[in-house]
Amino acid sequence: MAPEPHLLQGELSCPRCGNDVLEAVSDGIQTNFLCHQCWTCWHWELGWIAPVPALTCPGCRHHEECLRRNAERQEARTDDE
Ligand SMILES: [Zn+2]
Ligand SMILES: [Zn+2]
Repeated sequence: MAPEPHLLQGELSCPRCGNDVLEAVSDGIQTNFLCHQCWTCWHWELGWIAPVPALTCPGCRHHEECLRRNAERQEARTDDE
């Protein structure tokens, strides 16, 4: 049985889209926070929050979704240019 997702509400907000409901995901060593709105995984450390590359987001249960959304974002960016 999969463990219940641990959702943080109002404690951190996504620097990219401002969503303040993030899911804590952990691979047992490090904990990251996934934004379900823009599908970015964030690593929070010592008051500093940095995006985790979707290719490697450790412990993320939405890995495929992260990758897909990331690819879509890249395509959208290319179209702009
Ligand atoms: Zn976000
Ligand atoms: Zn992820």
